[in-house]
Amino acid sequence: MTQNTAVRVRFAPSPTGHIHVGNARTALFNYLFARSMGGTFVLRIEDTDLERSTVASEQLIYEDLKWLGLNWDEGEGKGGAYGPYRQTERFDIYNEATDKLLREGKAYHCFCTKEELEAAREQALKEGRPPLYNGKCKSIPREEAERRIEAGEKPAIRFHADKPNVVVRDLIHGDVEFPTNAFGDFIIVRPDGVPVYNYAVVIDDALMKITHVLRGDDHLPNTPKQVLLFDALGYTTPLFAHIPMILGPDRSKLSKRHGNTSVEQFRSAGYLPEAMINFMALLSWSPEGEDELFNMNELIDRFTLDRVSSSAAVFDFDKLKWMNGMYIRSADINTITALAVPHLMAAGQVTPEFVTGEMERLAKMVASVRDNFEVIGDAPKYMSVYFDEIPEPDEESREILDLPTTRAVLETFLKLIDDYHWLAVDIYKDCAKQVGKDTGAKGKALYMALRVGMTGKTKGPELDLFVPLMPVEKLKERLKRTLERI
Ligand code: GLU
Repeated sequence: MTQNTAVRVRFAPSPTGHIHVGNARTALFNYLFARSMGGTFVLRIEDTDLERSTVASEQLIYEDLKWLGLNWDEGEGKGGAYGPYRQTERFDIYNEATDKLLREGKAYHCFCTKEELEAAREQALKEGRPPLYNGKCKSIPREEAERRIEAGEKPAIRFHADKPNVVVRDLIHGDVEFPTNAFGDFIIVRPDGVPVYNYAVVIDDALMKITHVLRGDDHLPNTPKQVLLFDALGYTTPLFAHIPMILGPDRSKLSKRHGNTSVEQFRSAGYLPEAMINFMALLSWSPEGEDELFNMNELIDRFTLDRVSSSAAVFDFDKLKWMNGMYIRSADINTITALAVPHLMAAGQVTPEFVTGEMERLAKMVASVRDNFEVIGDAPKYMSVYFDEIPEPDEESREILDLPTTRAVLETFLKLIDDYHWLAVDIYKDCAKQVGKDTGAKGKALYMALRVGMTGKTKGPELDLFVPLMPVEKLKERLKRTLERI
């Protein structure tokens, strides 16, 4: 891979809540591209929608990115040579650009009221013309505009879109041509002085020296306006790569009704960041070959823009679960245990005291069942065997209880373990063998009976792992309870 330290990309979220997986995938592609090229990954906060943006949401974005391991090089907490990195702190910069456009006659004040604009729009539609701005304020001389502003009027500022068409050069979609009359003279600064997204983004991308704009292709229709503005302001236009959207399993745009959609929802359901990263990387991107499991470094090694597809990706929730299970199985057991704790606490299975005092035993318990987890949230279901009352026998357990030897097996075992507080695995094995000898029960009649006697179920962790982790007192209670059910 050729190193290109000049590569500068950015992730530019609007702080309106936790990061949606679609945006997280955009952040990931930017990150992978930057890291693979030895470039710079900038984080810019686009908070010009003053009503919807909150400082609290900004924090959520930082948390989500950090959790995913998408560390930025410039922006909040990092500084950088091209700040500030929050749009509401850049109004002076935008104003300067606007003055330049006004001075050069590339933009003009528009005093039209909402009602006037609406009436003109309706008129145009009635006459079968595209509902573009009618240019009413274009010819107002600058001095007159200034006078009206001094007198208290609050105009918007419109960009004079005078080119017939614009070609967007996109690394994923190729050249896409847009006729300018699809939008006409558009507003760049609202009457309240706040620049619109399409305007601020251009100034920021240019002044932050962004070389590649990688973002969702829902922004492709915005790009011709941005290209016009780059030109008008005398800036170099960056290269664009619009990443296809993510669809739900029914092939409609991924949304809440398909299930989890925010990074935070996946985190709290018990998905691991490594699994999320691996899974998201494969949404509209694929490396050469058939392999599907890659850690971040392996992704960085393999990532190239030319392997990003132009077609939408379907978010396969089952595949994500499968992948998450793979990561859960290969992760450090203490990490998995620590992640399971909040779920176990919420299920009332462990107390904070137990967790502090019995961490080692708890980790062994988790180790005995974690191969079953698809998400960490599955922990209480599989840890139930250690912490909950034994369930009423189901059909399979009932069959074991009905075997002629089961009562003798459980009673003999109870007697043999009576003096112990804990059963080390060898002692447990000896006891089980002794029970076999004394009662004549073998195989299923012996081991299934013990299993059902101590867990109430025919399935669960290996008894060699399970038994040494349970206080004998508890096992005895359970065996007695089971005997009552025979
Ligand atoms: N703030 C925009 C968004 O969140 C950024 C779009 C862009 O990357 O240009 O959609």
